[in-house]
Amino acid sequence: MESIESILNDDFIGKTVTIHGWVYRIRSSGRITFIIIRDSTDIVQCVASSSLGERYNDISSLTVESSLEVTGQVSKDERAVTGYEIKISDFKIYQRNEFFPITKDKSDEFLLDNRHLWLRSREFTSILKIRSTVFKAFADFFYNNGYYQVQGPMMVSTATEGGATLFKLKFFDDDVYLTQSSQFYLETMIFSLEKVFTIAPSFRAEKSRTRRHLSEYWHAEGEAAWLHNDDMMNVEEKMIEYIVSEVLNKNEKDLKLINRDISKLERIKAPFPRIKYRDLINKSREFGMNLKYGDDLGADEEYNIMIHYEKPLFVTNYPEELKTFYHLPDPENPGEILCHDLLAPEGYGEIIGGGERIWRLDELLERMKKAGLPEEDYYWYIDLRRYGSVPHSGFGLGLDRLVNWICNLNNIRDAIPYPRTVRRIKP
Ligand code: ATP
Ligand code: MG
Ligand code: MG
Ligand code: MG
Repeated sequence: MESIESILNDDFIGKTVTIHGWVYRIRSSGRITFIIIRDSTDIVQCVASSSLGERYNDISSLTVESSLEVTGQVSKDERAVTGYEIKISDFKIYQRNEFFPITKDKSDEFLLDNRHLWLRSREFTSILKIRSTVFKAFADFFYNNGYYQVQGPMMVSTATEGGATLFKLKFFDDDVYLTQSSQFYLETMIFSLEKVFTIAPSFRAEKSRTRRHLSEYWHAEGEAAWLHNDDMMNVEEKMIEYIVSEVLNKNEKDLKLINRDISKLERIKAPFPRIKYRDLINKSREFGMNLKYGDDLGADEEYNIMIHYEKPLFVTNYPEELKTFYHLPDPENPGEILCHDLLAPEGYGEIIGGGERIWRLDELLERMKKAGLPEEDYYWYIDLRRYGSVPHSGFGLGLDRLVNWICNLNNIRDAIPYPRTVRRIKP
């Protein structure tokens, strides 16, 4: 058995091969039938003719997405969709479909309800392949840089990012939450491993419908002892550069298939520009925006900024009020914290949130008090500042958002096989 991709070259001309897959398109003109067959690797034109005798009717009457195996001789044919053709001499039908419900004219809702079938489209197949590269490249990058992969729990008793977006569930007799981030648990592990990363789902009850929020998303997080905010950004820009270069190396065909402008990805080379929040607020006037110091940047603001950038942009030094309690204040700029967001170009906006963590006990307790958080619930997080505390920094990257940008999609829903949003929990 050969993969379709492997036979699409001149070495196979004149050879007899067997492939298996699904009917991608079929067109019959009486005594001759053209069947485009797809497998996970590519598509190829196959031709059946009445030389198959009585069995010809079986194959010429197949419908889209029926599964089959064909054997035949390969020839070169410039008119065929991928340049070669297989003349079918034998075949086996696994399943004959009556019809396949997915067609081009179907509504978004219909396609979402039938996501389990829509995943077979060539576009989605390519997105899934790119996503697979992104996940592997993320992990490889950190393994190559001396990080250990770790796992935190998904069911937790405390909020990381704030209460509004927590999913609550029953855990025996208690109320617990689905985790919003593994950060705090990663912080506990730097005391044994120093540098750690994780790839895990995070859950956020995002009630507003946006093109970049999922209720369940894949969160790639890293945490490293001894690193400061700038050091962490140095790591992150190399990581993004590496992931993009891996996608360019491994998925060129897929990027073309989804019409991604490859030249834009080729520009994604470290270092990335860095700007302080307050300078960005001033600069945004050049973009015709009317932001003032203290305004939070949401999807719309980030879009309007990032359509002006070709590379990702680090925004640092947000005002303390805009971020969660654990961020380290900047001693040189009162009221600002040593944090960063990484905004993706072409209008995509935030893909990473990160920064340096408060590591001194009194400072943390003060910030928690200000935020109104009960110390008891966070005793273990506080303990980290009691026993051999060290400066450390970390980040969280939304992998679905990264795929969304790399694939240049319109909606994050299409970057993940089974999106969970405020209105969707099936299939
Ligand atoms: P946003 O401002 O878009 O709501 P956030 O600042 O709340 O994002 P963080 O808490 O910084 O997000 O989480 C780290 C990263 O996780 C984000 O930079 C983003 O890439 C990703 N992320 C956060 N929330 C979601 C979500 N609902 N769906 C998909 N990815 C998300
Ligand atoms: Mg948010
Ligand atoms: Mg944000
Ligand atoms: Mg953030």
